[in-house]
Amino acid sequence: MDPSTDPANSFLASLERRSVFLENVISTCPEGIIANDTRGNIFLYNKSAEGIFGYTAEEVIGKLHAKHLYPPDGAKEVRNYIHSPQYGPHGHLVDFETEILRKNGKKAPIRLCCSVLTENGKEIGYIGFFTDISARIALQAKFLESEERFRGIFESAHDAFISMGEDGKVVMANRAAQILLGYGEDSLLGVEAIRLFVPRFADYWKELSVYASGLGPGNERRNIEIQVLSKSGAEIPVQLTLAEKVVRGQRIQTAILRNISDRKAFEEELRLQAITDTLTELYNRRHFLSLAQNESERALRNRVPFSVLLMDVDRFKQYNDAFGHDEGDKVLRALGDAIRKNFRTMDTGFRHGGEEFLVLLPETSAKSALIPAERLRERFSSIPFLPHPEEEPRKVTLSIGIAEYRPGISIDDLVRSADRAMYAAKNSGRNRTVIHEDLVVRPDE
Ligand code: GH3
Ligand code: MG
Ligand code: MG
Repeated sequence: MDPSTDPANSFLASLERRSVFLENVISTCPEGIIANDTRGNIFLYNKSAEGIFGYTAEEVIGKLHAKHLYPPDGAKEVRNYIHSPQYGPHGHLVDFETEILRKNGKKAPIRLCCSVLTENGKEIGYIGFFTDISARIALQAKFLESEERFRGIFESAHDAFISMGEDGKVVMANRAAQILLGYGEDSLLGVEAIRLFVPRFADYWKELSVYASGLGPGNERRNIEIQVLSKSGAEIPVQLTLAEKVVRGQRIQTAILRNISDRKAFEEELRLQAITDTLTELYNRRHFLSLAQNESERALRNRVPFSVLLMDVDRFKQYNDAFGHDEGDKVLRALGDAIRKNFRTMDTGFRHGGEEFLVLLPETSAKSALIPAERLRERFSSIPFLPHPEEEPRKVTLSIGIAEYRPGISIDDLVRSADRAMYAAKNSGRNRTVIHEDLVVRPDE
C-alpha cells in the first residue's frame, strides 16, 4: 500500500505539520513564553524569553527553577494572583505588571499574562507570556521627571499662572494663583475664569484677551493692567499677560498675573503727594483746578449750580511778624482742620497759596454757600491761639468771598470773582463774608 494514501500516515503528517507550525509561532512570538510544571521545572522557553531574561534555553530548560526568574517571593506572588480573581479570572493572570530577575542579577519591568495548564482537569503547570515594558517605564519616568521639573517652576513662580480650557474653566493654577486669589488648593480648578476678574473687565474679556495675547494687529504680546477679584471680594490690581497654546486639539489659554498692588499704592501715594499741601494736608491749587473743571462740566450738563469760597487770613503778616513764622504755621494748620470739619463730605478744601484757601461746594448756590462760610468764619474766629503762653490768647479772623459758577465763565473767572468779593470783605472792615453777586458792579469792572 502506498504510504502516502495510508490514513494513519496522513494523520501523523498533519499532526507533524501542526506541531511545526506551533513551534514556529512560539519561537517567533515577540513575547517571552515560558511554561513550567507545578514543581517549577521549566519545559518551554522561547527565543524572546532569552532576550528578556538573558538565559539561553539550554541554561533554563530542565535546569533552572521558575522561581529564580523572579526576585525573592516574586514567583509566589504571581502564583497567588493566578489563583485569585484580582487580575483576570481564576486560573488566569492578565496584564499584571511586575519585575523579573535577569541572568545578570538586574531586575526588569515586564507585563505578564499567565494561565494554569491542565490535563484531564488536573493542574499540571503554568504558561506565562512576558512583555518587556522597560522602554515604556523609562519613557514614563522621563516624562514624570520633566513634568516634575515643569511643576517645580510653575509652583515656585512668583507670578500667578491660571490656565483655562475652551469652556473658560480653570484647568490648572499654581500656588501663587491660590495665594493671590485666596482660594484653597484645588478649589480654583473648574471655576469659570471670567469670574476671577472684576465685572467691568468680564464684559469685554474677548477683546481684551485678543489684545493681551497678541493675536490681534501687530501680533505683539502686551501687558494689561486690570483688577482680579479675590474669593473674599477684594479687587487686586494685576498686570496680565496671556499665552495661548493648542494642546491635543484643545485651545488652552494661560493668564500670567503679576500682583502690582505695591506699585499701585506707591503710584497713588505719589499722586496724592502731588496734589496735597504738606503744611495743611488740604489739596493744593493744582487739584482745585482739575476738580473745579470737572464740576463746571457737570454743572453745565445737569444745570446745577456750584460755588467757590475764597478766604484769606486777616492781618496775617502782623501775626507772623509778632510771633514768628512757626506760630503763623499753626494758624494755617488750624484753618486747614477747621475747613475739613466745617463742610459736607462732598465739599473739598484747598490751600490756594500763602494764607489763602479755597472751598469747592458742588450743587450749591452762593446764597446757600453763605451758611457754611459764615459758620466757619465765626468758629475759626473763636479759636484761642496761644503764641505766647504767658500772654492773652489771640484771635484770628478771616475774610471770605463767595462766587457762584455761571455757564460760560472759566474757572479763572470764577476764582477772580471770589477774590473780588474777598477784597470787598477786606475793604469793608475784614472778618466778614461777601457774595460776589451782591457787589455793585461798576462799569469799568
Ligand atoms: P490782609 O488782612 O490784608 O490779608 O493782611 P495780611 O497781612 O494777611 O496780608 P499780606 O498779603 O500782606 O500778608 C500775608 C502774609 O502771609 C505774608 C506771609 O509772610 C504770610 N504767609 C504766607 N504763607 C505763609 C506760610 O506758609 N506760613 C506762614 N507762617 N506765613 C505765611
Ligand atoms: Mg493774602
Ligand atoms: Mg491776609
